[in-house]
Amino acid sequence: MPGPVRRWFEYLPPDEEPGARPLRPGMRVKVPFGGSVRTGVVLEAADGSEIDAGRLRRITERLDDEPSVPPSLLRLLVWAADYYHHPIGEVVRTALPVGLRRARPAAPPAARAWRLAGAAGGSGDLGRAPRQAAVVAAFEDAARDGGEPSLTEARLRTVPSWRAALRALEKKGWVERLAIPPPAAGAVSKLASPNESQARAAEVIESASGSFRAFLLDGVTGSGKTEVYLIAIDRLLRAGAGQALVLVPEIGLTPQLVARFREALPVPISVVHSGMPDGERLRSREAARTGASRVVIGTRSAVFTPLCRPALIVVDEEHDPSYKQQEGFRYSARDLALMRGSMEGVPVVLGSATPSLETLQLCATGRCRRLRLAERARGARMPRIALHDVRSLPLAAGLSERLVEAIGERLERREQTLLFVNRRGFAPVVLCHDCGEAIECRHCDSRLVLHRADRRLRCHHCGAEQGIPAGCAACGSPDLVSVGSGTQRLAESLADRFPSARLLRVDRDSTRRRGELDRMVRAARDGSADILVGTQMLAKGHDFPRVTLVGVVDADAGLLSPDFRAPERVAQLVTQVAGRAGRGELAGEVIVQTRRPRHPLLTALAREGYPAFAAVALAERDEVRMPPFARLALVRAEAPARAASNGFLATARELAGALNRPGVEVMGPVPSPMERQGDRYRAQLLLRSTSRADLQAFLRPWVERLASVRTPRGLRWSLDVDPIELG
Ligand code: ADP
Ligand code: ZN
Ligand code: ZN
Repeated sequence: MPGPVRRWFEYLPPDEEPGARPLRPGMRVKVPFGGSVRTGVVLEAADGSEIDAGRLRRITERLDDEPSVPPSLLRLLVWAADYYHHPIGEVVRTALPVGLRRARPAAPPAARAWRLAGAAGGSGDLGRAPRQAAVVAAFEDAARDGGEPSLTEARLRTVPSWRAALRALEKKGWVERLAIPPPAAGAVSKLASPNESQARAAEVIESASGSFRAFLLDGVTGSGKTEVYLIAIDRLLRAGAGQALVLVPEIGLTPQLVARFREALPVPISVVHSGMPDGERLRSREAARTGASRVVIGTRSAVFTPLCRPALIVVDEEHDPSYKQQEGFRYSARDLALMRGSMEGVPVVLGSATPSLETLQLCATGRCRRLRLAERARGARMPRIALHDVRSLPLAAGLSERLVEAIGERLERREQTLLFVNRRGFAPVVLCHDCGEAIECRHCDSRLVLHRADRRLRCHHCGAEQGIPAGCAACGSPDLVSVGSGTQRLAESLADRFPSARLLRVDRDSTRRRGELDRMVRAARDGSADILVGTQMLAKGHDFPRVTLVGVVDADAGLLSPDFRAPERVAQLVTQVAGRAGRGELAGEVIVQTRRPRHPLLTALAREGYPAFAAVALAERDEVRMPPFARLALVRAEAPARAASNGFLATARELAGALNRPGVEVMGPVPSPMERQGDRYRAQLLLRSTSRADLQAFLRPWVERLASVRTPRGLRWSLDVDPIELG
């Protein structure tokens, strides 16, 4: 272990010296499993078992003196395994970095500290207990120096017999223990002085300290949400309330946020994300677990970071799809953050300029409190979004004349332009000029994408690649042309049109090297680029003060997608990229090219902004009974033969029927939107219920039965609870 075990396994306790501390949940142990010895995590310590003791095997060794997985986190993992119907072994493994899967004892928790509690009197009131009086006096001295009235063990040691005195004071309720000492006296936080709405939001969040409350910090782009997090966290830290966990969509995209936290807060901050070396990741995790670090900033999986004493959880850009893991253990870090907050009894702040419809619905039903930041922090105006109807207009590499002219104006004024394209690469497709046949991937139902830099064709779905063929496979014509406009093609065309402009292309290909994205973002900020061309990577959270024009080259692909969430994604992207414009002193303009200028969602967005869009979109979801008004689960199956995946899902459907639960609707099986991928045929079955409880009650017995269906070779299936993509 933690291998992919679906069940819990029972063991006898290890043979240890009498008087050894009992094993507790969350401790790692070594156990015999099959023919080998594996690392496992204690889920529960029970007094007895229904299994005959003679048939139980014994834990061979304990690996921890302190639980590697603290009890409250373990509860979250057990809950998640149950809710997502995923093997508990794999779920626990998600929360254990590689270093801890091998046997190595974990470090002990951090230094402890105490402070005077509300019930405390003065040192003068302790005439008959001189040692206690000396301890209280030490606290009073610390407070008089202007610092925080709390002391660590090291400082208290100067008082003779301090330990016994402290214990007596604790018993009386005069002194309380802080697991996490506040910042040292005199440590200065560098916070902006908040405007009224920022101050109010931070205050409301702080006042929820010590209990679970959900907040949506709904602040327009540039409204200063980060400062609100910082102010709230700073106050909680100073009150000795504990640690903060801050989730962000992608660390690589938010170096500014991490830097801002480091600059603002005078406490150790650790960063955790999956891209970091194992050793470093383990050190960050241990710092969080022992309390050595006070703030943890991390991506999706950081929701499982053990915390010594959590005080606040923040999910920045809560609408971001990267919070949902799309393979294996398909959890939503945003949803788990809320669950963790409720289990740990701490407030959770979801922040976004474009909140998910799920979160907005939570607010509408009173389960989440909405805090608005309606204005930009530096007084800059919000840019206007103009829909530009490009039907039957001539386009050069996807750009209309109007957009090209607008770019020209910016160049003259030495301002920046940001062009957003939702495809990387040079051209999405290579076509035969004579018969119109496109070059397709041999393994998928998709066309290959031309990458200009190395003149290769690549499949963006399975990774297959090849050179450009000499002629058309269908008719033999040598006349092949590239059409469409990815980032590369757009950048080249702009270089032709504006030869003296300094161009910067930002996408997965151009930022593959470590540190490259960081370098590019800096170049964009310091004004050493005139035109930025990029994919949605550019839309996330960056602050480019000199950008005054944002062009969205094509909004239609998203609107036409069959996925019910596609319009929400388009609206979020357009609003987020638009938010990059006019952040500084300069006003911004946003031009969105579309062939559907009357699309109701798009017009609501352009005329009245994201909240109006969201209202229309929510009404539509309600009408068609889709989330957040219904709960979904999706079973995907794939196999080398179409019949195999369909056959499995047909069986799944029958099993569902046999369970006879009227509250759950079963739809399908249908072929997946991209049926063939990597030479495998994919199909899916959709389950829907208006009640989360009904759906869960159905899934439990159903998944158990599915797991014991005998499947043909090569068939793989998975269950996705609360899927965010139906494909
Ligand atoms: P958001 O995340 O809401 O889009 P940011 O947190 O990035 O916005 O803030 C936008 C800009 O405004 C940042 O440069 C930030 O430093 C600045 N800012 C935020 N709050 C204040 C404030 N109260 N006074 C001055 N500048 C502020
Ligand atoms: Zn042809
Ligand atoms: Zn392919």
